[in-house]
Amino acid sequence: RDRRDPVLSLENINVSFDGFRALTSLSFQIGVGELRCVIGPNGAGKTTLMDVITGKTRPQSGRAIYDQQTDLTRLSPTQIARAGIGRKFQKPTVFEALTVFENLELALKTDKSVWACLRNKLTSEQRDRIDAMLSTLRLSHERHRAAGMLSHGQKQFLEIGMLLVQEPHLLLLDEPAAGMTDAETAYTAELFRSLAGKHSLMVVEHDMGFVETIADHVTVLHQGQVLAEGSLREVQANEQVIEVYLGR
Ligand code: ADP
Repeated sequence: RDRRDPVLSLENINVSFDGFRALTSLSFQIGVGELRCVIGPNGAGKTTLMDVITGKTRPQSGRAIYDQQTDLTRLSPTQIARAGIGRKFQKPTVFEALTVFENLELALKTDKSVWACLRNKLTSEQRDRIDAMLSTLRLSHERHRAAGMLSHGQKQFLEIGMLLVQEPHLLLLDEPAAGMTDAETAYTAELFRSLAGKHSLMVVEHDMGFVETIADHVTVLHQGQVLAEGSLREVQANEQVIEVYLGR
């Protein structure tokens, strides 16, 4: 497949809450294998956009075409997750009482019933996949520790790993570096750059320093619409963007 093909094509999405327009004719595309940052001031519509893509919010009109064929606005959140779209919320949500390894094990078996999760042993191939993921996350030495004992940044990495073992095509991440140390933030950037290509990523981010280290391409949202799009340098030089961020 051509890398320039869109993995996601948002077409004229409209969302309003009791007459308040959170997204207005929002349209943009994310290419296969791209690492896209979505930025914008508070209230711009970033969370609503992720909610639309994951089926949590149904738009009044518009389409969200995934992989050039499936309109996500017609699917349930479960169907969307099964289609290969993973979402990470800002706060880490790991199973604190389980070990780091067990968290990844559960994530890997997520499509099974709870009973099947408990009963079925991991295959050696699955075990290898978890080991490789632990190494990627730099958590090998913590594998038998309860996830609740990890640092905030380590929990964030673990949750990213829980998404990755499910081998998503498109990953949506909400401020993944929030609350991380500088070293953890730098490693997150490195990790994301290594994931791009194989996966497509959409990162909602406030930290411009972080955006600068990761993004190929930035989309600026403002009042539920695309205000600007381009490299970070291009959008930072855009008069309207400067006004929105600094003007008031
Ligand atoms: P961002 O994530 O960019 O800060 P949001 O998508 O959370 O922006 O919100 C966009 C706008 O929509 C905000 O003005 C917000 O108050 C409003 N909004 C979001 N969700 C709801 C809701 N469920 N009911 C009413 N208004 C909402």
